[in-house]
Amino acid sequence: MKVKFWGVRGSIPSPGPNTVKFGGNTPCIELRFDDPDRLIIIDAGTGIRELGNDLMIRDFQKGPIVTEIFLTHTHWDHIMGFPFFTPIYVPTTALKVYGPVTYEEDTLDKVVGGQLTYRYFPIREAELTSKIEYVSLKETSLDLGDGIKLTTKYLNHPILTLGYRFEKGDKVFCTAFDTEPFQNVFCTDPDEPSYDEAMAQEGDNVAREENERLESFFEGADLLIHDTQYTQEEYASKMGWGHTTFEHALAAAKNNNVKRMALYHHDPTRTDAQIEALAEKYCRTDESGDTEVFFAQEGMQIEL
Ligand SMILES: [Zn+2]
Ligand SMILES: [Zn+2]
Repeated sequence: MKVKFWGVRGSIPSPGPNTVKFGGNTPCIELRFDDPDRLIIIDAGTGIRELGNDLMIRDFQKGPIVTEIFLTHTHWDHIMGFPFFTPIYVPTTALKVYGPVTYEEDTLDKVVGGQLTYRYFPIREAELTSKIEYVSLKETSLDLGDGIKLTTKYLNHPILTLGYRFEKGDKVFCTAFDTEPFQNVFCTDPDEPSYDEAMAQEGDNVAREENERLESFFEGADLLIHDTQYTQEEYASKMGWGHTTFEHALAAAKNNNVKRMALYHHDPTRTDAQIEALAEKYCRTDESGDTEVFFAQEGMQIEL
């Protein structure tokens, strides 16, 4: 398996002189398998534009582009690059788009392909001549063929969002973004009139179990790409927005024997200099015996 980052930034594209090194494109990851060749794309943020151009140069010479896009969810930063993905305009392209949908009356086709309408864009979806199929996903296990197994897991985000676990042979690759720890939804302050000790206890148990279930999902991963949009200080005022801290991701990786972890979904306000300062604090090599930790960077390629 080979993994390449085409977009690493959360929320909104943030190009400019302060994000040149780590990149300003929103999420898109290329996953390649050999023997046989297989291309899987995770998320269609603005990073997918450059990936599409690269595919037209590298892959199209060898034959039609056949690929699958697995969307973690349909927040704008994860789908906004789709209309700019050149292969969708090539008649021989065959594309399957998988993703979770929260509002069932809005199908995946409507949410993703619906960006190609005159309201937003100069070309309509009906004009596309490539073959595009949409598949709605829930928590499940799938055999993708060619020896590739996929397991999906619900994350904690304001809309339905999936973590992905791809396995081939003895290699495991996982994603967990956008997400934050599950919290106790009941009142936990004994001084509040709505406090109920049994309910508070039950809420604690449910949150803990959900967190353990999610974290065991990336047990033993060779590479985990994890949301780390916030510092602990920032998270204090942004709980419920669906993103998490460096401390949470590091502990989850360590407790579940993750070999390497890419810190991902960088806050759009985070400059290269700030990421480098955070790297001093949080990143480490595998010589420490713990999980190897690094910041995802556009153009970075990792072999598992
Ligand atoms: Zn996002
Ligand atoms: Zn999101």
